[in-house]
Amino acid sequence: MTSAFQNTLDFARQLDAQDALRPFRDRFHLPPGPDGQPAAYMCGNSLGLMPKTARAAVEAEFQSWEEHAVEGHFREPSQWMHYHQTLTEASARLVGAKPVEVVVMNNLTVNLHLLLISFYRPAGRRYKVLMEGGAFPSDQYALESQVKLHGYQPDDAIVELLPRPGEHTLRTADIEARIQALGEELALVILGGVNYYTGQAFDMPAITRAGHAVGAVVGFDLAHAAGNLLLHLHDWDVDFACWCSYKYLNSGPGGTSGVFVHERFANRPDLPRLAGWWGHDATVRFQMKKGFQPMPGAAGWQLSNAQIFPMAIHRAALAIVDEAGGMQELRRKSEQLTGYLEYVLHAAGLPAEVLEIITPADPAQRGCQLSLLVHQQGRQLFDFLSERGIMADWREPNVIRISPVPLYNSFEDVWRIGQAVAAWTTTLTPAAANQ
Ligand SMILES: *Cc1c(COP(=O)(O)O)cnc(C)c1O
Repeated sequence: MTSAFQNTLDFARQLDAQDALRPFRDRFHLPPGPDGQPAAYMCGNSLGLMPKTARAAVEAEFQSWEEHAVEGHFREPSQWMHYHQTLTEASARLVGAKPVEVVVMNNLTVNLHLLLISFYRPAGRRYKVLMEGGAFPSDQYALESQVKLHGYQPDDAIVELLPRPGEHTLRTADIEARIQALGEELALVILGGVNYYTGQAFDMPAITRAGHAVGAVVGFDLAHAAGNLLLHLHDWDVDFACWCSYKYLNSGPGGTSGVFVHERFANRPDLPRLAGWWGHDATVRFQMKKGFQPMPGAAGWQLSNAQIFPMAIHRAALAIVDEAGGMQELRRKSEQLTGYLEYVLHAAGLPAEVLEIITPADPAQRGCQLSLLVHQQGRQLFDFLSERGIMADWREPNVIRISPVPLYNSFEDVWRIGQAVAAWTTTLTPAAANQ
């Protein structure tokens, strides 16, 4: 395989010098490694870095609270009453949606449940759910409890997609075939936009088409896709989706969550849902009367008044994405950065019996994360990287996830990983290397 890449520090620095997003690295607090120098932070898939603007954004709301107390709901500049709306446009751009199709509220798993109440409506023969085998545990538990709520057995109602023997990721054709085979038994397809473990990005438009063709509803958990992939939820005709803000969206631990509900459901007050006052028609909300009338669009799924402090951080973090030129720009760098990571890992020369990249090699089937399946002494490799200031993520039993993030990671960070992996190779015991 020929490559335009070179495995040298000079080359990595040259790519950094040419990188239009390079100035954005300075917008974030980079944690130090053991030598006091900035770590190569590769855990943005788990918790994105803190924007330097986050503290002032929260401070401004403290200021309003301190000075105005309840009046802060109505006073400029905070206007807590309408605060969630200030996140709508940027969120819509982020996921390729119309503003009416998105809302920011609650936390991810809560939102997944709220959406499932409306969009998992099993009836008669049509009650099955198709999801990834080994989905993120919260999603597994959410679906398990939802099918039980409707009186079904999880083992019967939940169908899991598993890779073919000897393969690590799913083939789109196999997903489509499974959907077709389930046919009119299938009520819901719910997948991650990007699988958290393998880093595989699914073909969301193809899966949505296949689901709709058999009359099923199709939703995605975009926890690992929002801020990572270029998304076109509206055009792809996805029914619903939700995501968290603290991974690729850098909005802080336990940060708020985004929701997408396709425009075709915008004026469907008849859809069953769990209601709260913030989803009620805002023009009459404070009449405090009986009889729930949902707001049009995703806003009609809100329950509670806005969580100002997490939303203040989210607003500051989303502003950085927009300033950087949006997801198109981020994705452009991301493909190159992850391509370089793949290149330096291959250049480290480890045999597949020791280390395999299980994330698809096709850039269209992945975001920024590469998952390394380490067959030998994986935990040792992880510790070896940590000692050298490379903060990656360890998943039992033997996967290291590495996620170079275009907003703040550099090509030099990535080059360091290749060097460290090559250095680790020399520490392998011969038995391990030969096995
Ligand atoms: C990170 C993640 C979650 C976490 O859910 P919270 O409700 O935010 O704790 C859930 N699902 C997926 C797929 C995730 O990646």
